Amino acid sequence: MSVMEVPMKTDAAVADASTVERKRSVYANVVAQFNKAADLAKLDPDVRRILATTANEIVIHFPVKMDDGSIGMFTGYRVQHNNTLGPFKGGLRFHPAVDIDEVRALASWMTWKTALAGIPFGGGKGGIQIDPSKYSIGELERITRRFTFALATNIGPEFDIPAPDVNTNAQIMAWMVDTYLMMMPAHERGRHTHVVTGKPIEAGGSLGRDKATGQGVVYTIEMWAKDHAFDLSKATYFVQGFGNVGSWAARLLKPHGATMLAAQDHTGSISNPNGIDPEELAKHVKLSGGVAGFPGSKAIDGETFLKTRADIFVPAALEGQITATTAPWLNCKLVAEGANGPTDVEGDAVLIKRGIALLPDILCNAGGVIVSYFEWLQNKRSEFWELDEIDTKLHKKMLRAYERVRDTAREHKTDWRTAAYVVALGTLETVYKERGIFP
Ligand code: NAD
Repeated sequence: MSVMEVPMKTDAAVADASTVERKRSVYANVVAQFNKAADLAKLDPDVRRILATTANEIVIHFPVKMDDGSIGMFTGYRVQHNNTLGPFKGGLRFHPAVDIDEVRALASWMTWKTALAGIPFGGGKGGIQIDPSKYSIGELERITRRFTFALATNIGPEFDIPAPDVNTNAQIMAWMVDTYLMMMPAHERGRHTHVVTGKPIEAGGSLGRDKATGQGVVYTIEMWAKDHAFDLSKATYFVQGFGNVGSWAARLLKPHGATMLAAQDHTGSISNPNGIDPEELAKHVKLSGGVAGFPGSKAIDGETFLKTRADIFVPAALEGQITATTAPWLNCKLVAEGANGPTDVEGDAVLIKRGIALLPDILCNAGGVIVSYFEWLQNKRSEFWELDEIDTKLHKKMLRAYERVRDTAREHKTDWRTAAYVVALGTLETVYKERGIFP
């Protein structure tokens, strides 16, 4: 199934045309990363052609009644890249710059991430092209429910399982699961709660899912620090994006004794050479909607932010932030990619040349999908796991993936991103060879 239509431009997309334009190349970036690793690994040419394309692409234009009685038209996407290892899995994003190119890229990264993490999922991703800040809660609920209804059986607990991403959260997942269950016969509903992950705890969510991606980021930083005899208690860091991933990564680095020197989000960039308390900043963001105006901090511009002299940089916002232009500005030892695709191929080349270490996205931010897998398993088995059990299992999976990437980088004398792809592609290639191509 492949439903391709020309995406309609919403008002928000027109207003943010420059961002949309920039994102045209996101998928090209994934393809370049993939090609580099496929060449190095001498990937089977047939497997290569299969993995170089997406399986299904769904574009849906749908109407929603607004609070003032008018009808708004919206465009939503779901791209299913590959399900060789298990059901398609990946988040749902609400952002004006969401388009088919970006969703293709994000879906592909999910395929590599789940393969590397060793969990039985494939890769998918979706999004709606909106700026959610422009809508009331009631409108957002109707937009979410109508899109879920329109997706219908294109998602499903054993077929394609969405989760939160940029500007979506546990509440959006609760509306999605409720809408999906309403489409099932009454006696079937109990068996379908795992159609989305990242749900509120009471609605079938898992302990630890809210912090999972940030937790995984910090676990990989700890592993890297141990391997490099690097003392985290004296480390400094700065974080781009202070939403789910960025704020949790910042907060979980604090107990190590590390000091946050700067933070940035869509409201601006702030710095304080004496340190910013991530717990206090998280409270400020909850109250005010962003990092701007945090007491005791100084407002700085975006370039000054990226030039912050600190040991660790955690990009945890959007794609394409570390580029040929911005990578030379960085004054850090390690980039830990909380976001998907924050570094483009030109940015990567600069980091490699400058000897800045990298924990690549498909490794570093895999904690979210790993705990989503745990949530999915708990729902299937009607179980409820304790947090310490989840953290222990997450750490084990992150360590296994980290060690495979590190050892593959050494073996092939390559960079860590390429090594992460080599591991993921090797797993997929093995399964294709074992199973063959139908018929
Ligand atoms: P979120 O919506 O909770 O937070 C996004 C943050 O980015 C916000 O602080 C926002 O202000 C900031 N931001 C937006 N535009 C910005 C800009 N132009 N400059 C600076 N900051 C900007 O989203 P999230 O779930 O934390 O996702 C962040 C990144 O992490 C995305 O790349 C996402 O795909 C990736 N990711 C998320 C998860 C997850 O579990 N949520 C898992 C893996 C990867």
